[in-house]
Amino acid sequence: MTEKAPLFFTSARTFKFGYRNSVHSRLKKLLKKLRIGRAVRKNDIVPVKIHFGSYGSVRGIRPAYVEAVVNAVKMAGARPFVTDTVRIQGPEYLSIAKRNGYNEAAMGAPVLLADGIFGKDSVEVKAGRLLGSCTVASAIHDAASMVVLSHVKGHIQSGFGGAVKNLAMGGVTAAPRDGDWSKGRGKAHFLIGENPQWTGSPPCTLCGTCVEICPQDAVKIRRKKVIIDYDCWHCGRCISSCPEEALFVEKDEELFYEALAEQAVATLSTFKPDRVVYVNFMMDMQPECDCMEACDVPMIQDTGIVAGFDPVAVDKATLDIVAESPILKNSRADMLSKRYRGKDPLGSVHRKKSFRVLEHAEKLGIGTLKYEIEEIN
Ligand code: SF4
Ligand code: SF4
Repeated sequence: MTEKAPLFFTSARTFKFGYRNSVHSRLKKLLKKLRIGRAVRKNDIVPVKIHFGSYGSVRGIRPAYVEAVVNAVKMAGARPFVTDTVRIQGPEYLSIAKRNGYNEAAMGAPVLLADGIFGKDSVEVKAGRLLGSCTVASAIHDAASMVVLSHVKGHIQSGFGGAVKNLAMGGVTAAPRDGDWSKGRGKAHFLIGENPQWTGSPPCTLCGTCVEICPQDAVKIRRKKVIIDYDCWHCGRCISSCPEEALFVEKDEELFYEALAEQAVATLSTFKPDRVVYVNFMMDMQPECDCMEACDVPMIQDTGIVAGFDPVAVDKATLDIVAESPILKNSRADMLSKRYRGKDPLGSVHRKKSFRVLEHAEKLGIGTLKYEIEEIN
């Protein structure tokens, strides 16, 4: 019988207004209890993996919480740096990080791009039956230990973003040095369907949003038509950002869930067992990924922080806690009927099944869906 993964949780609520009762103080207590030093060893150079956000998406993890983690890593005798893989041009992405408060002055550790300024520094590693291989960011690949901090929120493809998705899409680079993006994180999207289809005009107003948002420069407007070319990697951003719903695609979601789990396995395969720690922040849980160009109001009441050494268990506990938390009025989740929202409000707003990625990840052997949780007060 599979053992239950031990996890720690602290609530987002504060009832007494002294520092000792603050979430920040309890996070420090939680990290002590977690004993990060079991994963992070003396003199390790440790990536503290976060998401830097975007110019318009500013609801990521508060820098003060990242600083608490950075200090815990330092206390273990290791040397942390805060990092993410490149999503847009490297220099611009570093400016976004700085603007969003992810800078050395605030967090006490340097901020670096895990896959280099061009987003190509990576090492190809074996993945599963769907992907074959994928390219893990070199600063993550070469590290002996890592701390993965995940801002929990919705995601257009996986339903929700947590630890497993952070390892997967966040650990794998967009394209390797030879420029073949089909070896990178885009392959998981690519597998699931065809290029988005343009429904034609009207309803398309030729506003150009899809052109601006495409990370691959794959959308063009020519002779009053939207054309999507062969560089499209099926990420779905143009579809979800189109104000007129003028784009659509047929997809096989199940393939994406499995491919995402394979990417997580590939990233983790570069570490020895139990050398990666996961901390999920169930705060500001808005509907979309932090890489989108805007963020909406949170959908679920801030709930707290859950942490452990098992990414599947940490994510499963996250989804279970979220399922029991109040839905916020006038949010995107509030617009769904109670029945449709079910046990997966984050996934339901995207009509996705958040638990499926975790079930695939468990099958692939990187964790368990069973856990026991200790609350830190
Ligand atoms: S975002 Fe939608 S409406 Fe705007 S140009 Fe693209 S397809 Fe047309
Ligand atoms: S799905 Fe849309 S946004 Fe994504 S790569 Fe293809 S064209 Fe670009």
